[in-house]
Amino acid sequence: MIRFDHVFKRYPNGREALSDLSLELASGEIAFLTGHSGAGKSSLLKLIALIERPSRGQVIVNGQNVGSVPRSKIPAYRRQIGVVFQDHKLLHDRTIFDNIALPLIIAGIGTKEIGKRVRAALDQVGLLGREQSRPLELSTGEQQRVGIARAVVSKPPILIADEPTGNLDPDLSLEVMNIFRRFNEVGVTVLIASHDLYLLEQFPVRRIRLEGGKIVDSDEAPQKLLDP
Ligand code: ADP
Ligand code: ADP
Repeated sequence: MIRFDHVFKRYPNGREALSDLSLELASGEIAFLTGHSGAGKSSLLKLIALIERPSRGQVIVNGQNVGSVPRSKIPAYRRQIGVVFQDHKLLHDRTIFDNIALPLIIAGIGTKEIGKRVRAALDQVGLLGREQSRPLELSTGEQQRVGIARAVVSKPPILIADEPTGNLDPDLSLEVMNIFRRFNEVGVTVLIASHDLYLLEQFPVRRIRLEGGKIVDSDEAPQKLLDP
């Protein structure tokens, strides 16, 4: 589903964020991407989301060579990837409904279908009924769940998250992680960058550890999440 083949990422300032990195994540897998700040986690996720392009090497996602997706096809490409950020980047002057509907509106989907899908996404994160609230009327944990609903509303086969529990206390972190796990259980491939040790302890899933832009440790066997 996701393959990195000798990938290098060098930013215009000369900083090499990823160095000869190879990685394979099977369809339906769930894994943590770990490592200290600056190890290259965000850069790796940005290559998958096509926010950045590799400097060398190949990134293959869902059979597509990401490096050669033309600019005009980037929006269609990105629809396959749900992205969750630490700071969920919600629009504060819009309702929860509008925040989640945005990717569907951009994709040109009809109003009735949008209503259905937004409610389904809210249901999956336990926030059905909050459509007309505004982000600041929700707790931090609820806001993060809205961010997840927005990421999955287009039903992407791949979900990536960059420190999704960074601002949450342990209980809320587990709740958010359980949401990711439920998506994984229905077949979504999930990759979560995190250095939240508590969370890593609670969920015995594959870990891919980065250091200085290289993988220093990765369980070889693709592993499904164990039952709690
Ligand atoms: P985190 O450890 O949470 O990923 P970082 O400090 O590594 O946070 O990066 C935060 C954001 O700033 C990322 O989007 C990253 O790409 C960007 N960034 C980090 N370092 C630089 C830099 N030297 N120049 C420009 N952008 C940077
Ligand atoms: P992490 O997510 O593990 O904290 P990042 O991928 O954000 O790591 O950063 C890896 C390295 O690349 C760091 O040295 C960071 O400063 C650098 N970096 C990240 N984004 C940029 C950018 N846009 N421009 C320049 N350097 C960057």
